[in-house]
Amino acid sequence: MLKKDRAVCLRKTDYSETSQVVTLLTRSFGKVPAMAKGAKRAKSPFDGPIEIFSCGDIVFSPAASQKLATLTQFEQKPVFIGLRSRLYNLNCAFFAAELLDKFTHDYDPHPELFDSFTQFLTDIQNIKNDFEALALLIIFQLTLLSDIGTKPVLSACTSCKTPFNENWPYVYFTSLANGIVCRDCEQAFTDKIRLSKHAAACLNDLKHLPRANEKTLNEIEKVLIYHFTELLGKPPRMAGQFIKK
Ligand SMILES: [Zn+2]
Repeated sequence: MLKKDRAVCLRKTDYSETSQVVTLLTRSFGKVPAMAKGAKRAKSPFDGPIEIFSCGDIVFSPAASQKLATLTQFEQKPVFIGLRSRLYNLNCAFFAAELLDKFTHDYDPHPELFDSFTQFLTDIQNIKNDFEALALLIIFQLTLLSDIGTKPVLSACTSCKTPFNENWPYVYFTSLANGIVCRDCEQAFTDKIRLSKHAAACLNDLKHLPRANEKTLNEIEKVLIYHFTELLGKPPRMAGQFIKK
């Protein structure tokens, strides 16, 4: 039976001279891997070839398990064309798309995450400098972790539950315990990374993020990349673009 939904393309590969295999994030059905037959023909029911971040209304017929759905229509809306005007912003968007693809399952709907992602893409295309774009990426990455049920504990020591306050002399992040740990507990966590006070304060209260300096934002992104690497068992492909040497 045909289904209708809104979708954003997360991934695309050429299947043949004229067809594409695409991974679409839909609002109501979650992630849908689909075959778009004839997508690269001059006249196709998809408004031309499908690119990453192509967005609009789709019609598709879901497949039996482990197979590709068949995309029958894609009415593309040019909502994210501004993304390609700054390379850094585009890389942030690619990173977010990669993480969505890796951390969500097919046909597992997360409508709020779909909304957060499209809002993130809308906002980031108007950003004029790298650190503001990075702040948006960090907020989206934390939203993603929270939405998939692995929200890091950033307001208290995950071990002894002491609430974080800015007088803690040292703060550490541990991927193993999915959050911060205090100085009294850190010895039990061999994978810990020490956080600067600024980074810990920003993570504790995300309202500080938009005012954080570039160094703090880079530090937080480094911690998140480390965390995603631990969760995935290997570094995300886009991570290399964000590790400052
Ligand atoms: Zn503790």
